[in-house]
Amino acid sequence: MRTPFVAANWKMNKTLPEALAFLQAIAGKLPDQAEVEALICAQSLFLSQMMIETKDEPLKIGAENVFWQNQGAFTGETSPKAVASLGVDYVIIGHSERRKYFRETDEMVNNKVQAVLRNGMRPIICVDETMGQRESNEKVHWVVSQVIEALKGVALEDADKITIAYEPSWAIGAAAASAKEAEDGCYLIRQTVADMFSDEAADQVRVLYGGSVKPHNQAELMAMPNIDGVLVGDASLDPDIFLQLVNYQQ
Ligand code: PEP
Repeated sequence: MRTPFVAANWKMNKTLPEALAFLQAIAGKLPDQAEVEALICAQSLFLSQMMIETKDEPLKIGAENVFWQNQGAFTGETSPKAVASLGVDYVIIGHSERRKYFRETDEMVNNKVQAVLRNGMRPIICVDETMGQRESNEKVHWVVSQVIEALKGVALEDADKITIAYEPSWAIGAAAASAKEAEDGCYLIRQTVADMFSDEAADQVRVLYGGSVKPHNQAELMAMPNIDGVLVGDASLDPDIFLQLVNYQQ
């Protein structure tokens, strides 16, 4: 059984005092990790402090990006080895904003996925599709090829460490996909993993939907057979809404 997963992507929001105030507001109110796995991905410069503040909470802390080399002359980049040394579990890789604004290619995404795994962390690989691709029926090709490229060279025994988020860019910060549209995308992703690895591996991989998830549409999305959780941007910035999202089963 795959544990339901509610992952926040704070993006480039919050100062350190704001991040700490948020953590104080949610302290003691999170569900058991066996019921729902809760994660906050934040700017790398907060991760160390956030790990300390949440050490007794059922909450995981993740990074929003890392570089693919562990060290060297790469001014301004974030080392996956350094992030792992903080005890961080998860790293978002290949978010559509990084692909769009920082020109991240499938090859770069694949290098980063491998670096995250090498350093003992778990990648949350984002794959997307634009409205144009959806309307011209290119979606299948696009989503499948991003999954194939991202997972190239990944060992079968690492399958259970992989999370893939279906995040159609037309649904981010806009109107969410319907539960059926989201399920179709997540099903396609799981089938691609089955074709690349095995049915068992596809069964272990967690597939999330992301794009304008709010408390009012979350339960319907998460009831879908191939949607194991949600990746949430805007709605995760408010502690009360985040608590509603992680406590959606109550
Ligand atoms: C995201 O960018 O990962 C995201 C899902 O954003 P939002 O929830 O704001 O649409």
